[in-house]
Amino acid sequence: MVDQQAAAQCAKLCDSFYLYDERSLTRSAQTLRDSFPGIDFLYSVKCNPHPLIIKALAEKGFGADAASLGEVLLSRECGLAPEDIYYSAPGKTPEDLARAVDLSTVIADSPGEVERLQALAQSRGITLKIGVRINPDFTLYTANGSSSKFGIDEETVFSLLPTWNALPNIRIVGLHVHCHSQELDAAILRRYHENVLALARRFSAGLATPLDFVNLGSGIGVPFTAQDRPVDVAALGKSTSALAAAFQKEFPGVRVLIESGRYATSAAGTYVSKVVDKKVSRGKTYVLLASTLNAFLRPAVNHMVEGQNPGKAPDACEPLYTGGGTVEFLPLTQTQERETVTLCGSLCTAADIVAEDISLPRLSVGDLVAIPNAGSYAYVLSPTQFAHLPLPRQFFICSTGQILES
Ligand SMILES: *Cc1c(COP(=O)(O)O)cnc(C)c1O
Repeated sequence: MVDQQAAAQCAKLCDSFYLYDERSLTRSAQTLRDSFPGIDFLYSVKCNPHPLIIKALAEKGFGADAASLGEVLLSRECGLAPEDIYYSAPGKTPEDLARAVDLSTVIADSPGEVERLQALAQSRGITLKIGVRINPDFTLYTANGSSSKFGIDEETVFSLLPTWNALPNIRIVGLHVHCHSQELDAAILRRYHENVLALARRFSAGLATPLDFVNLGSGIGVPFTAQDRPVDVAALGKSTSALAAAFQKEFPGVRVLIESGRYATSAAGTYVSKVVDKKVSRGKTYVLLASTLNAFLRPAVNHMVEGQNPGKAPDACEPLYTGGGTVEFLPLTQTQERETVTLCGSLCTAADIVAEDISLPRLSVGDLVAIPNAGSYAYVLSPTQFAHLPLPRQFFICSTGQILES
Protein backbone atom coordinates (compact mmCIF):
# COMPACT_ATOMS: atom_id res chain seq x y z
CA MET A 1 0.00 0.00 0.00
CA VAL A 2 1.27 3.42 -0.94
CA ASP A 3 1.23 5.91 1.91
CA GLN A 4 -0.58 8.65 -0.04
CA GLN A 5 -0.24 11.23 2.67
CA ALA A 6 3.52 10.76 2.88
CA ALA A 7 3.75 10.83 -0.92
CA ALA A 8 1.89 14.14 -1.07
CA GLN A 9 4.16 15.56 1.61
CA CYS A 10 7.35 14.53 -0.23
CA ALA A 11 5.95 15.79 -3.55
CA LYS A 12 6.06 19.29 -2.11
CA LEU A 13 9.85 18.94 -1.94
CA CYS A 14 10.63 17.37 -5.32
CA ASP A 15 9.13 15.85 -8.46
CA SER A 16 10.53 12.30 -8.32
CA PHE A 17 11.34 10.26 -5.28
CA TYR A 18 11.43 6.90 -3.57
CA LEU A 19 9.47 6.25 -0.40
CA TYR A 20 10.67 3.46 1.86
CA ASP A 21 8.31 2.34 4.59
CA GLU A 22 9.91 0.98 7.74
CA ARG A 23 6.66 -0.68 8.84
CA SER A 24 6.56 -2.84 5.71
CA LEU A 25 10.29 -3.51 5.94
CA THR A 26 10.21 -4.74 9.50
CA ARG A 27 7.04 -6.75 8.89
CA SER A 28 8.73 -8.73 6.10
CA ALA A 29 11.90 -9.13 8.13
CA GLN A 30 9.93 -10.32 11.14
CA THR A 31 8.02 -12.80 8.96
CA LEU A 32 11.30 -14.36 7.88
CA ARG A 33 12.67 -14.44 11.42
CA ASP A 34 9.50 -15.98 12.83
CA SER A 35 9.16 -18.54 10.03
CA PHE A 36 12.73 -19.85 10.18
CA PRO A 37 13.63 -20.49 13.83
CA GLY A 38 17.28 -21.39 14.30
CA ILE A 39 18.35 -19.76 11.04
CA ASP A 40 20.16 -16.42 10.80
CA PHE A 41 19.45 -13.92 8.05
CA LEU A 42 21.77 -11.73 6.05
CA TYR A 43 20.53 -8.69 4.18
CA SER A 44 21.82 -8.56 0.60
CA VAL A 45 22.96 -4.97 0.65
CA LYS A 46 23.30 -4.67 -3.13
CA CYS A 47 19.55 -4.56 -3.65
CA ASN A 48 19.23 -1.34 -1.67
CA PRO A 49 22.16 0.08 0.28
CA HIS A 50 20.18 2.88 1.92
CA PRO A 51 21.73 3.17 5.40
CA LEU A 52 18.38 3.49 7.15
CA ILE A 53 17.28 0.22 5.54
CA ILE A 54 20.48 -1.58 6.57
CA LYS A 55 20.05 -0.23 10.11
CA ALA A 56 16.34 -1.10 10.32
CA LEU A 57 17.10 -4.67 9.23
CA ALA A 58 20.09 -4.88 11.59
CA GLU A 59 17.68 -4.03 14.41
CA LYS A 60 15.67 -7.06 13.31
CA GLY A 61 18.79 -9.19 13.63
CA PHE A 62 19.85 -9.24 9.98
CA GLY A 63 23.57 -9.37 9.26
CA ALA A 64 24.97 -8.31 5.90
CA ASP A 65 25.58 -10.15 2.65
CA ALA A 66 28.13 -7.78 1.12
CA ALA A 67 28.81 -7.96 -2.62
CA SER A 68 31.76 -5.56 -2.62
CA LEU A 69 34.32 -3.98 -0.31
CA GLY A 70 32.15 -0.84 -0.46
CA GLU A 71 29.25 -2.80 1.00
CA VAL A 72 31.50 -4.26 3.70
CA LEU A 73 32.55 -0.73 4.71
CA LEU A 74 28.97 0.56 4.54
CA SER A 75 27.73 -2.31 6.71
CA ARG A 76 30.41 -1.50 9.28
CA GLU A 77 29.38 2.18 9.21
CA CYS A 78 25.80 1.08 9.84
CA GLY A 79 26.96 -0.63 13.01
CA LEU A 80 27.18 -4.27 11.98
CA ALA A 81 29.87 -6.36 13.66
CA PRO A 82 32.53 -8.05 11.47
CA GLU A 83 31.20 -11.48 12.47
CA ASP A 84 27.82 -10.56 10.97
CA ILE A 85 29.23 -9.42 7.62
CA TYR A 86 29.89 -12.02 4.92
CA TYR A 87 31.72 -10.78 1.86
CA SER A 88 31.02 -12.89 -1.22
CA ALA A 89 31.69 -11.62 -4.74
CA PRO A 90 33.58 -12.74 -7.82
CA GLY A 91 36.70 -10.82 -8.85
CA LYS A 92 37.86 -9.33 -5.57
CA THR A 93 41.13 -7.38 -5.95
CA PRO A 94 44.12 -7.81 -3.62
CA GLU A 95 43.24 -4.40 -2.14
CA ASP A 96 39.66 -5.55 -1.49
CA LEU A 97 40.92 -8.65 0.31
CA ALA A 98 43.53 -6.76 2.33
CA ARG A 99 40.91 -4.42 3.76
CA ALA A 100 38.04 -6.87 4.05
CA VAL A 101 39.74 -9.60 6.07
CA ASP A 102 39.63 -7.48 9.24
CA LEU A 103 36.05 -6.35 8.72
CA SER A 104 34.15 -9.41 7.55
CA THR A 105 34.19 -13.12 6.82
CA VAL A 106 35.59 -13.38 3.33
CA ILE A 107 34.14 -16.06 1.07
CA ALA A 108 36.61 -17.10 -1.61
CA ASP A 109 35.16 -17.22 -5.08
CA SER A 110 37.96 -19.01 -6.95
CA PRO A 111 40.97 -21.25 -6.30
CA GLY A 112 43.20 -18.26 -7.11
CA GLU A 113 41.52 -16.26 -4.40
CA VAL A 114 42.20 -18.96 -1.81
CA GLU A 115 45.89 -18.74 -2.77
CA ARG A 116 45.85 -14.93 -2.54
CA LEU A 117 44.23 -15.12 0.88
CA GLN A 118 46.91 -17.60 1.99
CA ALA A 119 49.64 -15.19 0.82
CA LEU A 120 47.92 -12.28 2.56
CA ALA A 121 47.54 -14.17 5.83
CA GLN A 122 51.14 -15.37 5.66
CA SER A 123 52.45 -11.86 5.07
CA ARG A 124 50.60 -10.72 8.19
CA GLY A 125 51.56 -13.74 10.24
CA ILE A 126 47.93 -14.61 10.98
CA THR A 127 45.60 -17.56 10.53
CA LEU A 128 42.57 -16.64 8.52
CA LYS A 129 39.17 -18.32 8.68
CA ILE A 130 37.37 -18.13 5.35
CA GLY A 131 34.42 -19.57 3.50
CA VAL A 132 34.24 -20.89 -0.04
CA ARG A 133 31.52 -20.24 -2.57
CA ILE A 134 30.63 -23.47 -4.31
CA ASN A 135 29.00 -23.79 -7.71
CA PRO A 136 27.07 -26.96 -6.89
CA ASP A 137 26.34 -29.93 -9.09
CA PHE A 138 22.64 -29.04 -9.01
CA THR A 139 20.51 -25.96 -9.56
CA LEU A 140 17.10 -24.98 -8.29
CA TYR A 141 15.61 -26.66 -11.35
CA THR A 142 17.99 -29.42 -12.43
CA ALA A 143 19.77 -32.37 -10.87
CA ASN A 144 23.03 -31.35 -12.52
CA GLY A 145 25.00 -28.17 -12.17
CA SER A 146 25.83 -25.63 -14.82
CA SER A 147 28.85 -23.54 -15.72
CA SER A 148 29.01 -20.28 -13.79
CA LYS A 149 31.18 -17.23 -13.22
CA PHE A 150 30.33 -17.57 -9.53
CA GLY A 151 32.12 -19.78 -7.07
CA ILE A 152 34.14 -22.94 -7.63
CA ASP A 153 32.64 -26.05 -9.19
CA GLU A 154 31.78 -28.67 -6.59
CA GLU A 155 34.03 -31.27 -8.31
CA THR A 156 36.98 -28.85 -8.27
CA VAL A 157 36.39 -28.02 -4.61
CA PHE A 158 36.59 -31.67 -3.60
CA SER A 159 39.78 -32.21 -5.56
CA LEU A 160 41.35 -29.11 -3.97
CA LEU A 161 40.36 -29.81 -0.35
CA PRO A 162 43.53 -31.78 0.50
CA THR A 163 45.67 -28.87 -0.79
CA TRP A 164 43.60 -26.31 1.08
CA ASN A 165 43.68 -28.34 4.28
CA ALA A 166 47.48 -28.19 4.14
CA LEU A 167 47.66 -24.39 3.78
CA PRO A 168 49.52 -23.03 6.81
CA ASN A 169 47.54 -19.80 7.24
CA ILE A 170 44.05 -20.66 6.01
CA ARG A 171 41.22 -22.47 7.78
CA ILE A 172 38.17 -23.14 5.64
CA VAL A 173 35.17 -22.95 7.96
CA GLY A 174 32.15 -22.35 5.77
CA LEU A 175 30.47 -22.65 2.43
CA HIS A 176 28.19 -20.42 0.44
CA VAL A 177 25.83 -21.45 -2.34
CA HIS A 178 23.51 -19.15 -4.26
CA CYS A 179 21.96 -20.21 -7.55
CA HIS A 180 18.92 -18.15 -8.34
CA SER A 181 16.72 -15.25 -7.28
CA GLN A 182 12.98 -14.64 -7.43
CA GLU A 183 11.62 -18.17 -6.93
CA LEU A 184 8.06 -18.36 -5.62
CA ASP A 185 7.64 -22.12 -5.23
CA ALA A 186 8.35 -23.21 -1.65
CA ALA A 187 8.79 -26.86 -2.71
CA ILE A 188 11.59 -25.92 -5.11
CA LEU A 189 13.29 -23.82 -2.45
CA ARG A 190 12.93 -26.58 0.10
CA ARG A 191 14.63 -29.12 -2.17
CA TYR A 192 17.36 -26.58 -2.88
CA HIS A 193 17.99 -26.03 0.84
CA GLU A 194 18.08 -29.79 1.35
CA ASN A 195 20.62 -30.15 -1.48
CA VAL A 196 22.86 -27.43 -0.05
CA LEU A 197 22.85 -29.02 3.40
CA ALA A 198 23.69 -32.41 1.85
CA LEU A 199 26.56 -30.74 0.01
CA ALA A 200 27.67 -29.16 3.30
CA ARG A 201 27.86 -32.63 4.88
CA ARG A 202 30.10 -33.94 2.09
CA PHE A 203 32.18 -30.76 2.21
CA SER A 204 32.65 -30.97 5.95
CA ALA A 205 33.73 -34.61 5.69
CA GLY A 206 36.67 -33.49 3.56
CA LEU A 207 37.62 -30.52 5.73
CA ALA A 208 40.40 -30.53 8.31
CA THR A 209 38.56 -28.00 10.50
CA PRO A 210 35.03 -27.88 11.87
CA LEU A 211 32.37 -26.04 9.94
CA ASP A 212 31.32 -22.64 11.34
CA PHE A 213 28.65 -21.72 8.81
CA VAL A 214 26.55 -22.86 5.89
CA ASN A 215 25.14 -20.04 3.80
CA LEU A 216 22.14 -21.22 1.78
CA GLY A 217 22.05 -18.04 -0.33
CA SER A 218 18.83 -16.45 -1.48
CA GLY A 219 16.07 -17.46 -3.86
CA ILE A 220 12.97 -16.40 -1.94
CA GLY A 221 11.01 -14.28 -4.41
CA VAL A 222 8.29 -11.66 -4.17
CA PRO A 223 4.98 -11.45 -6.07
CA PHE A 224 4.88 -8.83 -8.81
CA THR A 225 1.61 -9.58 -10.56
CA ALA A 226 -1.89 -10.44 -9.41
CA GLN A 227 -1.29 -14.00 -10.69
CA ASP A 228 1.89 -14.46 -8.67
CA ARG A 229 1.32 -16.53 -5.55
CA PRO A 230 3.62 -15.38 -2.74
CA VAL A 231 6.10 -17.93 -1.40
CA ASP A 232 4.53 -20.01 1.36
CA VAL A 233 7.16 -18.77 3.78
CA ALA A 234 5.53 -20.47 6.77
CA ALA A 235 5.71 -23.90 5.12
CA LEU A 236 9.20 -23.34 3.73
CA GLY A 237 10.44 -22.04 7.07
CA LYS A 238 9.06 -25.03 8.89
CA SER A 239 10.76 -27.58 6.63
CA THR A 240 14.05 -25.72 6.20
CA SER A 241 14.31 -25.04 9.93
CA ALA A 242 13.78 -28.74 10.60
CA LEU A 243 16.52 -29.61 8.11
CA ALA A 244 18.80 -27.00 9.70
CA ALA A 245 18.07 -28.27 13.22
CA ALA A 246 19.03 -31.82 12.19
CA PHE A 247 22.18 -30.44 10.61
CA GLN A 248 23.05 -28.46 13.73
CA LYS A 249 22.69 -31.60 15.81
CA GLU A 250 25.39 -33.23 13.70
CA PHE A 251 27.50 -30.06 13.67
CA PRO A 252 26.96 -28.32 16.99
CA GLY A 253 27.37 -24.56 16.90
CA VAL A 254 27.22 -24.30 13.12
CA ARG A 255 25.44 -21.22 11.86
CA VAL A 256 22.91 -21.76 9.08
CA LEU A 257 22.36 -18.58 7.09
CA ILE A 258 19.86 -17.43 4.48
CA GLU A 259 20.43 -14.31 2.41
CA SER A 260 17.61 -12.04 1.35
CA GLY A 261 17.50 -8.80 -0.54
CA ARG A 262 14.19 -8.38 -2.29
CA TYR A 263 11.94 -10.19 0.17
CA ALA A 264 12.53 -7.66 2.91
CA THR A 265 12.69 -4.55 0.76
CA SER A 266 10.81 -4.84 -2.52
CA ALA A 267 7.29 -4.07 -1.32
CA ALA A 268 8.59 -1.56 1.24
CA GLY A 269 9.59 0.81 -1.55
CA THR A 270 7.47 2.91 -3.89
CA TYR A 271 8.68 5.15 -6.66
CA VAL A 272 6.69 8.33 -7.25
CA SER A 273 6.95 10.85 -10.06
CA LYS A 274 4.92 13.93 -10.89
CA VAL A 275 3.09 14.55 -14.15
CA VAL A 276 4.92 17.52 -15.68
CA ASP A 277 3.22 17.69 -19.09
CA LYS A 278 0.53 16.12 -21.18
CA LYS A 279 0.01 16.34 -24.92
CA VAL A 280 -1.55 14.65 -27.93
CA SER A 281 0.35 13.56 -31.03
CA ARG A 282 -1.57 12.18 -34.00
CA GLY A 283 -4.27 10.72 -31.81
CA LYS A 284 -2.04 9.38 -29.01
CA THR A 285 -2.10 10.99 -25.56
CA TYR A 286 1.28 11.31 -23.87
CA VAL A 287 1.59 11.77 -20.13
CA LEU A 288 5.07 13.00 -19.27
CA LEU A 289 6.43 12.20 -15.84
CA ALA A 290 9.34 14.14 -14.35
CA SER A 291 11.59 11.04 -14.45
CA THR A 292 11.18 7.46 -15.49
CA LEU A 293 14.10 5.58 -17.12
CA ASN A 294 16.82 7.64 -15.43
CA ALA A 295 15.35 7.32 -11.94
CA PHE A 296 13.87 3.81 -12.04
CA LEU A 297 15.27 1.71 -14.85
CA ARG A 298 13.23 -1.49 -14.52
CA PRO A 299 9.88 -0.23 -15.91
CA ALA A 300 11.63 1.14 -19.02
CA VAL A 301 13.53 -2.13 -19.52
CA ASN A 302 10.30 -4.10 -19.10
CA HIS A 303 8.60 -1.98 -21.70
CA MET A 304 11.53 -2.33 -24.08
CA VAL A 305 11.77 -6.11 -23.70
CA GLU A 306 8.04 -6.62 -24.07
CA GLY A 307 8.02 -4.41 -27.18
CA GLN A 308 10.55 -6.78 -28.77
CA ASN A 309 8.52 -9.86 -27.79
CA PRO A 310 4.87 -8.85 -27.99
CA GLY A 311 2.59 -11.16 -26.05
CA LYS A 312 5.41 -13.51 -25.15
CA ALA A 313 7.51 -12.57 -22.15
CA PRO A 314 11.08 -13.93 -22.40
CA ASP A 315 12.93 -15.46 -19.45
CA ALA A 316 13.65 -13.14 -16.58
CA CYS A 317 17.07 -11.54 -16.45
CA GLU A 318 17.21 -10.52 -12.81
CA PRO A 319 17.44 -7.90 -11.55
CA LEU A 320 17.15 -5.93 -14.80
CA TYR A 321 14.12 -7.68 -16.21
CA THR A 322 11.62 -9.60 -14.11
CA GLY A 323 8.91 -10.68 -16.54
CA GLY A 324 5.82 -9.66 -18.43
CA GLY A 325 3.32 -7.46 -16.62
CA THR A 326 5.46 -7.04 -13.52
CA VAL A 327 5.24 -3.25 -13.38
CA GLU A 328 2.14 -1.54 -12.08
CA PHE A 329 1.28 2.15 -12.40
CA LEU A 330 -0.89 3.69 -9.72
CA PRO A 331 -2.06 7.25 -10.30
CA LEU A 332 -2.54 8.88 -6.91
CA THR A 333 -5.71 10.71 -7.92
CA GLN A 334 -9.37 10.46 -6.98
CA THR A 335 -10.54 10.71 -10.60
CA GLN A 336 -12.91 7.95 -11.74
CA GLU A 337 -12.85 8.84 -15.45
CA ARG A 338 -10.33 6.84 -17.44
CA GLU A 339 -8.31 7.45 -20.58
CA THR A 340 -5.80 5.61 -22.72
CA VAL A 341 -2.34 7.10 -22.47
CA THR A 342 1.31 6.50 -23.20
CA LEU A 343 3.38 7.04 -20.08
CA CYS A 344 6.88 8.38 -20.53
CA GLY A 345 9.63 10.34 -18.88
CA SER A 346 11.24 13.63 -19.81
CA LEU A 347 14.58 12.36 -21.11
CA CYS A 348 15.64 13.28 -24.64
CA THR A 349 15.54 9.68 -25.82
CA ALA A 350 12.69 7.71 -27.35
CA ALA A 351 13.67 4.81 -25.05
CA ASP A 352 12.23 6.69 -22.09
CA ILE A 353 8.74 5.18 -22.34
CA VAL A 354 7.35 2.93 -19.62
CA ALA A 355 3.90 2.04 -20.93
CA GLU A 356 2.08 2.43 -24.24
CA ASP A 357 -1.65 2.78 -24.68
CA ILE A 358 -2.67 1.77 -21.19
CA SER A 359 -5.91 2.70 -19.51
CA LEU A 360 -5.44 4.87 -16.42
CA PRO A 361 -7.55 7.27 -14.40
CA ARG A 362 -7.37 10.66 -16.14
CA LEU A 363 -4.16 12.45 -15.14
CA SER A 364 -3.43 16.18 -15.04
CA VAL A 365 -0.21 18.12 -14.68
CA GLY A 366 0.79 18.05 -11.01
CA ASP A 367 -0.74 14.63 -10.30
CA LEU A 368 1.46 11.85 -8.95
CA VAL A 369 2.00 8.38 -10.37
CA ALA A 370 3.34 5.67 -8.07
CA ILE A 371 5.11 2.46 -9.05
CA PRO A 372 5.08 -0.16 -6.29
CA ASN A 373 7.69 -2.83 -5.62
CA ALA A 374 10.47 -0.27 -5.91
CA GLY A 375 12.35 -1.11 -2.74
CA SER A 376 14.91 -3.40 -4.35
CA TYR A 377 17.12 -3.12 -7.45
CA ALA A 378 15.53 0.24 -8.19
CA TYR A 379 17.41 3.38 -7.23
CA VAL A 380 20.84 1.70 -7.31
CA LEU A 381 20.28 0.12 -10.69
CA SER A 382 19.18 3.29 -12.46
CA PRO A 383 21.24 5.59 -14.73
CA THR A 384 20.63 8.64 -12.57
CA GLN A 385 23.46 10.65 -14.13
CA PHE A 386 21.89 10.62 -17.57
CA ALA A 387 20.97 14.04 -18.98
CA HIS A 388 21.65 15.83 -15.71
CA LEU A 389 18.10 15.56 -14.47
CA PRO A 390 17.64 16.03 -10.73
CA LEU A 391 18.47 12.87 -8.79
CA PRO A 392 15.40 11.15 -7.40
CA ARG A 393 15.30 11.73 -3.66
CA GLN A 394 14.89 8.91 -1.15
CA PHE A 395 12.60 9.30 1.85
CA PHE A 396 12.21 6.87 4.70
CA ILE A 397 8.96 6.69 6.66
CA CYS A 398 9.88 5.59 10.18
CA SER A 399 7.61 3.31 12.19
CA THR A 400 6.67 6.44 14.14
CA GLY A 401 5.41 8.10 10.94
CA GLN A 402 8.28 10.56 10.86
CA ILE A 403 9.78 11.05 7.39
CA LEU A 404 13.57 11.09 7.18
CA GLU A 405 15.87 11.73 4.26
CA SER A 406 19.35 10.15 3.85
C1 LIG B 1 21.93 -10.68 -5.34
C2 LIG B 1 22.21 -11.77 -4.41
C3 LIG B 1 21.31 -12.05 -3.37
C4 LIG B 1 19.98 -11.35 -3.21
O1 LIG B 1 18.98 -11.93 -3.97
P1 LIG B 1 17.46 -11.52 -3.73
O2 LIG B 1 16.73 -12.22 -4.81
O3 LIG B 1 17.37 -10.04 -3.81
O4 LIG B 1 17.08 -12.00 -2.36
C5 LIG B 1 21.68 -13.01 -2.45
N1 LIG B 1 22.85 -13.67 -2.55
C6 LIG B 1 23.72 -13.44 -3.55
C7 LIG B 1 24.99 -14.20 -3.58
C8 LIG B 1 23.43 -12.50 -4.50
O5 LIG B 1 24.28 -12.28 -5.51
